[in-house]
Amino acid sequence: MKAVAVFPRTKEVRVIEHEAPCITELGQVKLRMLDIGLCGTDKEICAFEYGTLPAGSDYLVIGHESLGEVIEVGPAASRVKVGDLVVTTVRRPCSHPECRPCRAGYPDFCITGDYRERGIKGEHGFMTEYVVDDERYMHVVPPELRDVAVLTEPLTIAEKALDQVRHIERRLPWLNTVIPEDMRRLPLTAVVLGAGPVGLLGAMTLIVAGCDTFVYALVPAPNPSSEIVEAIGGKYFSQGKVPVEVQKALSGRIHLIYEATGASRLAFEVLKLLGPNSAFIFTGVPSLRGPIEVDADLLMRNIVLKNQIVFGTVNASSENFDEAIRDIGVFHQRWPQALRALITSRSAPEEAPGLLLGKIGGIKNAITFNNEV
Ligand SMILES: [Zn+2]
Ligand SMILES: [Zn+2]
Repeated sequence: MKAVAVFPRTKEVRVIEHEAPCITELGQVKLRMLDIGLCGTDKEICAFEYGTLPAGSDYLVIGHESLGEVIEVGPAASRVKVGDLVVTTVRRPCSHPECRPCRAGYPDFCITGDYRERGIKGEHGFMTEYVVDDERYMHVVPPELRDVAVLTEPLTIAEKALDQVRHIERRLPWLNTVIPEDMRRLPLTAVVLGAGPVGLLGAMTLIVAGCDTFVYALVPAPNPSSEIVEAIGGKYFSQGKVPVEVQKALSGRIHLIYEATGASRLAFEVLKLLGPNSAFIFTGVPSLRGPIEVDADLLMRNIVLKNQIVFGTVNASSENFDEAIRDIGVFHQRWPQALRALITSRSAPEEAPGLLLGKIGGIKNAITFNNEV
């Protein structure tokens, strides 16, 4: 069967003939792959900056953002049935007995670093015609979300982040007391840094959660991302063009900053604006370019004197995948066009190397298998 693979030794990315997988264990399920999303991680793997080959293979089949259709189930598989649409999780646990997160079913918090990730680290990915995996890693998607469900995996980043925020908020006693729900907190103001898929899906999640949401990005409006932000009821501002009155209104009043650019200088600059008892969430992974100057004294004073939390988050749990599928359904009801506009292209697998090695334009580009282009 066809697959898109990266060969680090010969520095190639190409469509290959890869052996089709078969069900070999009772709980396994076979999928016909439909859509595979491309992202920055795939680009880094194709630039040979990231990614680990599976043991014994000289190539890695890439692809971790997926949607597949169940075509065969093992005798012990009971959660999914033939015809179901499913999104499969990416990370698999390490085998160390002392890794409590992995042993508890949370490899997203693995402490040993020996986890595997399909399409990224030590396991072939989903950018291929057929995939077999254990049904425990699969999440069923309602059929009406067929066209947008490939956004589930990138959305899990925001779901895990907000899940963490909900836990962190429990440190604020007045949010847990017996006062009426509507008095527990003021309306929340959130700032999203970056208007790529992770930023835009984060903005949708924050707006659904009731936050007044501002998105800050490099490219001046109007552009496809700024149009999506406006359509979902957010406010879009580009670099160097934040009106003074907005800066004043936001300064010290931001409850949540969701960083989705990987630009460290920008992140630490905006961290200065975080309000009291508030949280800054890092999701971007910058390349290591050497030290930069930051206003460390001011940041440390703020973090202490304003009880601030700064945390990072990566990958997601099984629960976060279910939450993401539920929220894609909410976005689909509320903003069907804006949600669809996130997927800017669907291409055949033969186009994948060009898309990954060139400059990928658009918001979320997908590769489509099984002649559905
Ligand atoms: Zn990705
Ligand atoms: Zn582990």
